[in-house]
Order: sequence, then structure tokens, then C-alpha cells
Amino acid sequence: MEALLTQLPEPHSIWQQFHAISQIPRGSHNTEHIADWLVNFGREHGCEAQKDAAGNVVIRVPASAGKEDKPIVCLQGHMDMVCEKATDSAHNFATDPIQWRIVGEHLMANNTTLGADNGIGVAAAMVFVVDRSLVHGPLELLFTADEEVGLIGAAGLGTGVLKAQYLINCDSEEEHAICVGCAGGFVSKAKIPLTRLEAVPANMTLMHVHLTGLRGGHSGVDIHKEFGNGIKLLVRMLKHAQQQEFLLSSIKGGSAHNAIPREVHAMVYVPTPRVAEFTESLQRIAGAIGKEYATVEPHMVLNVTPTDSAEQMAPCDRLSTVRAINFLNTIPSGVLRSRAGGLPSPLTVVPPSATTSTAPCRFAQAVRHLRPFLPVEAASAHVLQLGPFLCELAGGTRAPRSATAARC
Ligand SMILES: [Zn+2]
Repeated sequence: MEALLTQLPEPHSIWQQFHAISQIPRGSHNTEHIADWLVNFGREHGCEAQKDAAGNVVIRVPASAGKEDKPIVCLQGHMDMVCEKATDSAHNFATDPIQWRIVGEHLMANNTTLGADNGIGVAAAMVFVVDRSLVHGPLELLFTADEEVGLIGAAGLGTGVLKAQYLINCDSEEEHAICVGCAGGFVSKAKIPLTRLEAVPANMTLMHVHLTGLRGGHSGVDIHKEFGNGIKLLVRMLKHAQQQEFLLSSIKGGSAHNAIPREVHAMVYVPTPRVAEFTESLQRIAGAIGKEYATVEPHMVLNVTPTDSAEQMAPCDRLSTVRAINFLNTIPSGVLRSRAGGLPSPLTVVPPSATTSTAPCRFAQAVRHLRPFLPVEAASAHVLQLGPFLCELAGGTRAPRSATAARC
């Protein structure tokens, strides 16, 4: 560690904390150990620390002398990390520490994800626990559980746990920038009853419709780039081919709730005499959509091929097919509303070496910019209502809002 430290920039105290938490396995759904470790860490350094029922940790760091009257600020990060490794790696994320290595200017891990998201944010906040030479008002450090898999810890945070008037989220993407705003997320589950036929009707061919080559991306940082959502594009194509009276067997697409679907598969039964028409109809609309998305999705490819997968589910009847396709076509996707003039650029923070005298006034300006965002709140309320409405239209049960939390 000492040898590595000499290669890393100051302040070393952040890297030390990051290294300490990197020794503890902390994949999503496995944060109990790191949570207990953080509680002990806080208490060992004389801070009040607790873990709540949702597995989140709060450490209260007293103010520096003379700063007791300052407003309480919460520094927030998430404990869990995404666990991915190279196919030939023997790393066990449940038991093994993350192994660091430095490649050029970058700190990386040995054939695994590093967990800098959000380990580095957690480490930055931890420095306030160990380094009492830093001057600050009262702090609350909030480390949430299972952010990567649905903001689960944040959603379970009880009211009244935090006393802070301000919250700084230490889970962002840009260096030397503060983003003033708020992101949120909710998961909504809809159940639409589908009636499946008992047997595949005679003279139907099972077709595999496969859309791939899309860019995907993160719903939190890429959504305004207007990449194609594979599910939305594929169901739009299927809607176009509805004259061929196909019956839906299955649609599968998307890998995570915060990943824009880059690949999607549909299995449909098509009347055999109409297979050629069906294929041509899909390719025609795919060509038109390809032009529409030419600048952002140049590698989109649609394959339509007959298949004989024996494990396929029986086809839905025609009404269920139409309902499912209509539902997926109507669900909103992408940026629905934004501030006039587009998304604001993040607030640039003046590096410590330069004068910081303008920073407070720029911060105030940014806060004033928040006002035009109110229509966005109205739009998000509308989306919350829209899900259940569309579900009802499709003959399903109302989808309750199951989880809401800040920042994805
Ligand atoms: Zn994160």
C-alpha cells in the first residue's frame, strides 16, 4: 500500500480510506459487513455512528471548534459496488479484497471492477472522521446500501434519521464540478394478464426478431443523448407489422433498471404464408428508424429469422398480443421535459490553488437556476400517474409506486 501511495496524488488520506474499504467485499446485496465495519470505524474515532433497519450507516462528525453554530451538512455516498470481472479471473467478490494496480495515470483493479463508484465518495467523506485538522461545521455522513440495484437503502431511510439541512451527494461523474439539482428514481411493477393458447395453431412459424448494436448507456447520465431504447424500438417495429397478425410468445430486453436496453429479443408466431411479408414489413420500418437514429445509433441491426426453439412459451392470443405491444409502445421513455435552453452545465468548482472568492456567489446563481425546473417536477408527477393508467388500459392491475429515492 505504501508503495502504491507514493504513485498516487495528494491527499493520501483519501486513498488510505478507499484502500481500507476495498479490503471488505461490498457488492450489492452484500453490504452488511462493510456497514458494520463503518459503524465501528466511526465509533473508534469518537463519533456517534449507527446502522438503520435498511442497512444504511450514519456517522455524526462533530463540528470543529467555533463552527458549532454552522448548519449541519450531510455528505452522502453508497457502500455497494458493481461486481464485474474478466472471464478468466478467479476473484471471488463474496470473500476477496479488491486488488489495486496502477496503470499509467489510473488506479485500477486486477481484472475486476475497482468500486470507485462509490468507494471514492465514501472515502472522501471518511477523511472528515480521521482528520480533525479539517475545519468544518457539524457533519452527518450517510452511507446507503444497495444503490446500484435500485436505490434500496435510500428508499428505506427513515424520516428523522438525518438532521442536516444540506446534502452533498458524493456520487458524481465530473471532477471539479458540483451539479446543483436532484435526480430520483422509482420502480413500478405492472401486471398485465396474457391469455396464452394451449397449442400453437397450425401453419404458424416461430420467428426470432433480434434488435442489437445499440449503444445502451446509463439512464442517469446518458438519457439526454437520445440513444435508442431497444425495447421501445422493437415494439414500434412489431406494431408496424401487425397486419401480419402475428402472435407474441415473449419479449426479452434490458439488463438493469438503470441501463438503457441495448439489445432485445422477441419470439413471435407468424402465419406461415405471411412470413415474407412480416419480415419485409419489419425491415422496412427498421430502415426508416435507422435513418431517424443515424447520427446516434449507426450500428443498429435488426435480424428476423425463423427458429424452432422447443422451449418457447405458447403464443398469446391476438388480444393479449395487441395489448402487450400497445402497452410497451405507449410507456414513456427518454427525456420528457427539460428546462428551456436544455440541460444546465454543472457548476465548475474553482481549484483550491486559485482564488475561491467567487465560488459562493456562483453557487447562489446556480440555486436560482433551479426555479425553471419546476415544470420538470410536474412532468415526473405525471409519469407516476401514467404507468398505472396505461396498465389499466391494457387490462392489467394498477402498478403501485414501489420505491422512490434520491439519485441513481
Ligand atoms: Zn454510484
